This record gives sequence, structure tokens and C-alpha cells, in this order.
Amino acid sequence: MSGSKVVSSSDKKKSLAEFRNHPLFRKLRHGVGKAIGDFGLIENGDRIAVAVSGGKDSYALLLVLEELRRRAPVTFELIALNIDSGYPGYRADVIEDFFRNNGFSYLMVPSRHYDIIKEKLRPGSSYCSLCSRLKRGELYEAAQTLGCNKLALGHHSDDFIETLLLNQFFVGSLKSMSASMLADNGIITVIRPLVYLAEEDIVAFSQYVELPVVSCCCPVSGIADMQRKRMKQLLKELQADIPHVKNSLLKALSNVHPRHLLDPLLRRELAGVGKSADLLVNHASLPEPDSHVCQQIES
Ligand code: SF4
Repeated sequence: MSGSKVVSSSDKKKSLAEFRNHPLFRKLRHGVGKAIGDFGLIENGDRIAVAVSGGKDSYALLLVLEELRRRAPVTFELIALNIDSGYPGYRADVIEDFFRNNGFSYLMVPSRHYDIIKEKLRPGSSYCSLCSRLKRGELYEAAQTLGCNKLALGHHSDDFIETLLLNQFFVGSLKSMSASMLADNGIITVIRPLVYLAEEDIVAFSQYVELPVVSCCCPVSGIADMQRKRMKQLLKELQADIPHVKNSLLKALSNVHPRHLLDPLLRRELAGVGKSADLLVNHASLPEPDSHVCQQIES
């Protein structure tokens, strides 16, 4: 985090007030409010770092959380957090202007991730995997340094659904992402308040507000994650025949019937012969299902 600086909030500028009552923004606010209620994402006294990469999702996340913070019956704080991975051409300055112009408290964290990736990446290994691992570590560290107990990420419902399909199609596992999950460090709780928001609504909002979206400028931007793009295309085709397919897939994540699955650990648990700890330890040792924190390639 060397070279980073914390900037405190000042007066809120006009821009948020201008679209506060627009139906698009109200729709986003409603979805986030429901997620917060359903999953208990925000509590009194929370200090929340909001990861903002410069993608449309993370900007929308920050704006909606700020609006809810203003109206909420509980008190919580928000600090916008940007990690600059160091890819040449990345416009961290545009993001910082957005924070400043909208009166957010924020922290800009420059990093040497690009240099580290160039040095450490082995032939054939995944650029994105190393990049997002480094970014995730930096986010946790920065959030802790800021005294935050939560880290908000901008994954929306399409991300949840695509991840569910990806894991089934390519990994052979039935999992997606959690709306709220204590990180491995046992200190920071990762929350995903956009879980109920459809990507198309965020795109429409982003275009309406003209959010200053910036590219990550990494060497694989636009070509990485072809499998996710295939899932997106598949869902689009399915939706033409089954309009509610995405809603149904999202609902499936909160409507699990363990007795009708084949996982032996679940079966032992249900039969009462396995230990809960067994289940947790064995499943915890699986690769982290939602380690991808890039906000650029999911859209
Ligand atoms: S697409 Fe995202 S995760 Fe992959 S290398 Fe680029 S910035 Fe990193």
C-alpha cells in the first residue's frame, strides 16, 4: 500500500441528487435494499470498504450504497477503495476524480502487480488467476488498514448465474458465490449487495448517468474469460425461449435440496453419521469458488 493516500469526504456534489429519483436508480436501490435485508449484509456500526475498479458495476455499487447510507435507520460508513494493478494506461485519475467530485471518502492504492505477474507467471498458467489473487490480497490488506470490517464487491445476479453454470460445465461442482462470506483472514466479511440486480439494469443506469467507466488495460482484457462469455451467450439464447430462466437459476441458489444431490458428505451429514466439522473442513479445502475479483471482464 505504499504511496496510497486516504482522502476524507466533503460536501456531496450535485450529481447524485440529480438522478436520485430516477426510476432506474430507484430500481437498483430497491434490489440492493432487499439483498441487504435478506442476507443481513449491513449492520449498525459497519465500516465498509467498497471496491471500485472503474467498471460500471462497482460505480453503481458505490452510488447505491451511498444513497442507502443516507436513508438508513442504522449508521454505517463507506470508503471507496481502488487498487491500481499497474497496467500501463489505466486511468486511476479518472476514478479518483469521480470519488472527489461526488464527495466520497476514498483510498487509492497503487501496486506493482503488473511487474509481479510479468516476473512470476509461468507459461500456460492463468493471467487472470494470478492478477485477481494479488488484487484480492491487496483489497483485504487495504480494508484492514482502513479499519473496515466489511468489503463490498460489485458482482451482480448475472455473475452469480454464470458462475453457477461455469462450475457445473467446467469444474464439476455445484457452487456459485456467497452474498456474505467471512474471508479466510477471519476479519473481513465480503459482501455482494448487487446479488439481485440484473446486469442489463446496471448497464442502462451506467449509460444514463454516463459513469466514467475505465478499462483495466491488462494485456488480456477482452480476450480473457471466454468461457464466461459462452455462458452469457448461452443464457441469452435460452432466455429467448424461457424468459424467466435467469430468475429461476438465481432462485435455485437459495432453494437447495441436499437430499436430492449426490455429495457423499452431504449424505453423511443428513444421515447423522458425519460430523458437521467434517463437512465444513472438507468443503473449505476446495478451491475458493469466488476468488475472481476482476470487475472488468464480467461485463
Ligand atoms: S481481465 Fe481482470 S483479472 Fe484478468 S488479467 Fe485483466 S484485470 Fe486481471
